[in-house]
Amino acid sequence: MKIGIMGGTFDPIHLGHLATAEAVRELFMLDEILFIPAARPPHKLGRTVTDERHRLEMTNLATRSNKFFKVSDMELKRTGLSYTFDTMTELHKIFGSATELFFIIGADSLVDLSKWHAARELVDKCHFIATTRHGVDVDFSAVKNYFGSAAREHIHCVTTPGLEISSTDIREKVRLGRSIKYLVPEAVEEYILREELYL
Ligand code: ATP
Ligand code: MG
Repeated sequence: MKIGIMGGTFDPIHLGHLATAEAVRELFMLDEILFIPAARPPHKLGRTVTDERHRLEMTNLATRSNKFFKVSDMELKRTGLSYTFDTMTELHKIFGSATELFFIIGADSLVDLSKWHAARELVDKCHFIATTRHGVDVDFSAVKNYFGSAAREHIHCVTTPGLEISSTDIREKVRLGRSIKYLVPEAVEEYILREELYL
């Protein structure tokens, strides 16, 4: 089995996340993509994140029409900070060591990978797929040099459709009473309006 992992705060989940996941799934011939909403991302401690109940529900709504997309609440159930290393360890226990795990992250995040908790073990044990937009050049050589030969096999860089969407922008639009149509799936748009999120 080859499983793609899409982690994020998903506050809210948007078409950028979904289009990227689908493109990577096809490109790497992954059996499924697991969306894992993060509880307390170590790098986002400064900002209040929307209640996890809402973020989980929006992730469920957004992914239900794709049979290859699954959602896991494993990080929400865990206490303490969300570290990818703990998630990866738990996933290897669940799926067995023969299953290959592919973490999908934005290229901007990959640049910081060496600072992640237990980064070297992470790169040894699973794959990283760094996604970047066409025309955007990110210099991975420092990262690859830091991790050495393992990195060359386990760190992959791909270009995916250039969707300029971000959750920050969507929250701001909702706050200003502007339209978020075609930035999030319809069911997510309806949920945000019904639950009066981001006002
Ligand atoms: P925020 O604006 O709150 O930081 P975000 O839009 O960056 O939110 P996250 O939940 O932080 O969304 O992102 C989860 C993952 O999805 C990260 O790896 C991020 O790089 C990636 N990602 C975010 N937006 C896009 C996009 N438009 N296209 C491709 N990947 C994206
Ligand atoms: Mg972000």
